[in-house]
Amino acid sequence: MRTRPIRIAWGVFLFLGCAGRVAPLRPRTAAAPEIRQLDVGTGTNAYVVMGTRPILVDTGWGKSSAKLEHQLATIGVDPRALALIVLTHGHGDHAGGADRMRALSGAKILAGAGDVEMLQAGRNRPLKPMSGIGKLVRGISDKPFPPFTPDLTLVSDFDLRPYGVDGKVISIPGHTPGSVAVVLDDGDALVGDLFRGGIVHSHQPERHFFHDDCQADEAHIAPLIASGAKRFFVGHGGPLDAAAVARRFADYPCP
Ligand SMILES: [Zn+2]
Repeated sequence: MRTRPIRIAWGVFLFLGCAGRVAPLRPRTAAAPEIRQLDVGTGTNAYVVMGTRPILVDTGWGKSSAKLEHQLATIGVDPRALALIVLTHGHGDHAGGADRMRALSGAKILAGAGDVEMLQAGRNRPLKPMSGIGKLVRGISDKPFPPFTPDLTLVSDFDLRPYGVDGKVISIPGHTPGSVAVVLDDGDALVGDLFRGGIVHSHQPERHFFHDDCQADEAHIAPLIASGAKRFFVGHGGPLDAAAVARRFADYPCP
């Protein structure tokens, strides 16, 4: 008679235990990579793109590399297995943890040539707010970070096939001069702060809070979709459906 409550208790325990567990990210093929979104704090995402080897895209804030390390451990990715670290741009909430990750992993860091100065200074260029909310967010977002020099700088399209993924890194200057996008052959694109997800509805596309050059930034949207991008992974919120992005930016002049 005493076994039944014990069995139920175990059932609850196992259910709760399993509910909190995240499936490990295993190697995939280069043609069908898997993307995992990592929450690195204060509403910012980093990503692992897993083809035959993992590629880390963005590294979160310098102050929170421990959070990134924990997130990698949660999905079973050893930093020493990283094939490459790609920085979508040089702002501190994306590049802050890069130097630490390079030390842990031994992987090379790829960044856009136009952002090298910012990375070496460990400081954002002046952030140009696009709205009243942008002015408020600037105070939270504009923090110094550990400076470093990237190993590889993007000057033309960078082929990711040698790193185990069918795709490339392309230059999309505008949000910053050295902004880049990771564009996969399967229709997924990781575009950093080209735009963002909504604060309330994270799958709703919105203009980012800051752009060095809004018009240059948003001029990349239509060509990316025309070239086959179907789903966008962004630095804040998302992922975003390409059709929703096209609708949001169809008639949305820069301030
Ligand atoms: Zn940014």
